[in-house]
Amino acid sequence: MSVTRKKTCRVLLVEDDPDHRDLILSKISKVAWFPVKVQWESLASEGISILKSGRFDIVLLDLSLPDSRPEDTLRAFADEFPALPIVVLTSLADEDLVENAISWGAQDFLDKSTVTSELMARSLRYAIKRKESLNHLRKQNEALRTFSHTVAHEVKSPLQSVVTALHLIRESALPKDEKNTLGRLVDLGIDSTTHLTNLVNELLAFAKYDGENFAKQPVELSALVEDVIREVRAFHVMDDAEVIVEGEMPVVMGAALQLRQVVLNLISNAFKYRDERPLKVTVSAKLQKNGWMISIEDNGVGISETDLPKVSNLFYRVSGHSEIPGTGIGLSFSKQIIERHGGYLEVESSLGEGSKFSFFLPA
Ligand code: ADP
Repeated sequence: MSVTRKKTCRVLLVEDDPDHRDLILSKISKVAWFPVKVQWESLASEGISILKSGRFDIVLLDLSLPDSRPEDTLRAFADEFPALPIVVLTSLADEDLVENAISWGAQDFLDKSTVTSELMARSLRYAIKRKESLNHLRKQNEALRTFSHTVAHEVKSPLQSVVTALHLIRESALPKDEKNTLGRLVDLGIDSTTHLTNLVNELLAFAKYDGENFAKQPVELSALVEDVIREVRAFHVMDDAEVIVEGEMPVVMGAALQLRQVVLNLISNAFKYRDERPLKVTVSAKLQKNGWMISIEDNGVGISETDLPKVSNLFYRVSGHSEIPGTGIGLSFSKQIIERHGGYLEVESSLGEGSKFSFFLPA
């Protein structure tokens, strides 16, 4: 809804402390810009069930509730009601959580000790506006994904026939060592269609991703990393790369297949973007304040300062890397997966020295 003077803004306040509740209600009652109607609940479970049955424009959410741990409350509401704006009510004790509130799906936060009715009005209004824009973008994104999926799906079968036909021509009609123009053209056709097939497969995985259910479970990263290393090594059989897994890999909460996709993208990139030096890839995990930072470091070609901020944009490829097969989808896909886990992806790199891709997963 757009908040105008005429429309009533329906607010659900989830706050267990009666004094804080009264304080917030008193600030809301003085909001003069638009009419506000508030309903109050004191438990996370009650808040969620009332949201399922009633229509609300926004939630004012205290994170420390009797039936929910502070680190779980926001995720529970944001996952259950992805289109609903949430403003987190904080106190000094929540300082660490506030840092993560926005990336976990809140539109704003209000400090209970300093909130005024003016700040309250502004926060409600802009949180709703921000969420509206976000929902609009999300819809457009979904439409684009559906479109990509349809196109990729339609292209896949005919493309497969072309690839098979080209291989058959190469194997049966042309001798293996044929280096005449026809042989070279068929090889070129095989390379291009192989690239297109990779692109179509990655687009299909990318387009399918958002529609999938996102169920978190304990994921043993040590087994996952070993499995990925085996797969990447099988693909680069001739490679003499040294791959080191440093220390213990943790068990994290996440969607196993999607996390595997991220680790696979990062380790296979380390193999792909190497230079003539012997390749060394190091996988490590560091415990941080609120979660784990997993890093994949290589001593490959590296990325320049100009390219670095753009490498996780969809379809972006460093211009000098065009000889190496790739689609520019993997990092963008990985970034989305990690952000969907409430984390972030970062990269440090130095041209000619190597790159370190790290992703943070909240505990
Ligand atoms: P792809 O490898 O299929 O092109 P990605 O999205 O995985 O797509 O990567 C985007 C671009 O970032 C790559 O094309 C490459 O230019 C650069 N890149 C990714 N990983 C590395 C790395 N480990 N070292 C150097 N460049 C990299």
